[in-house]
Amino acid sequence: MHAEVQRPLALFGGTFDPVHLGHLRVAWEAAEFLDAEVRLMPANVPPHRPQPVASAAQRLAMLRAALRGQGRLLLDDRELHRKGPSYTVDTLVGLREEIGATRPVVLLVGADAWSGLPGWHRWQELFGLAHIGVLTRAGHEAREPDELQQQVATRRTSSTADLLAAPAGRVIDICVSALEISATEVRNELAAGRQPRYLVPDALLADPLLLSAYAAAPVQCD
Ligand code: ATP
Repeated sequence: MHAEVQRPLALFGGTFDPVHLGHLRVAWEAAEFLDAEVRLMPANVPPHRPQPVASAAQRLAMLRAALRGQGRLLLDDRELHRKGPSYTVDTLVGLREEIGATRPVVLLVGADAWSGLPGWHRWQELFGLAHIGVLTRAGHEAREPDELQQQVATRRTSSTADLLAAPAGRVIDICVSALEISATEVRNELAAGRQPRYLVPDALLADPLLLSAYAAAPVQCD
């Protein structure tokens, strides 16, 4: 008897400070490509970067507003309930305790994050817990350090069927639109007193409280 094929669960982590249309479009394309439930998962204390400008509660409120009205992209706030740094390996262990060992899980990472994977806490254990979907945008190709290349040579696939055949362990490139939007740009627009229309979902502009954390944010460049 064949075991029932379980729909993949994909996790898209980030600071979402604030969430913008680049994030949402990419999450949507990954959901379509993988035929997966995609969860946007805001990080509490991202270990690899400066602290967010907006509080966890504010980032959560913005994500809730952004995701309202559709059912394909969901919110996963597990990292906000944990104290200390949001190490992905711990998050995936927690997720596995909840959903069990058999459902395919796909960790979605941007090409920038992928290149830096060998710097992540217990990174080699990630492959035992999830597949990795590398979000590849034209003009943002991932550099692959030797250490990473060796680890993934036998894991790479271009077939989503391989992701359904195992709960974890494969690496797949997912080509996504290159919307040139960054949260830094949105924060800079707001700090300069301009409205970030068409960079963020309309729902964020509809409630003046949602973006209020950025009104006095200092201007930064990428
Ligand atoms: P910041 O400008 O503050 O660095 P950001 O816009 O890059 O923020 P993050 O929350 O750090 O947003 O991003 C989470 C994930 O989304 C990362 O993997 C990042 O590569 C990806 N991402 C960010 N912006 C885009 C975009 N415009 N298109 C596709 N992916 C994006």
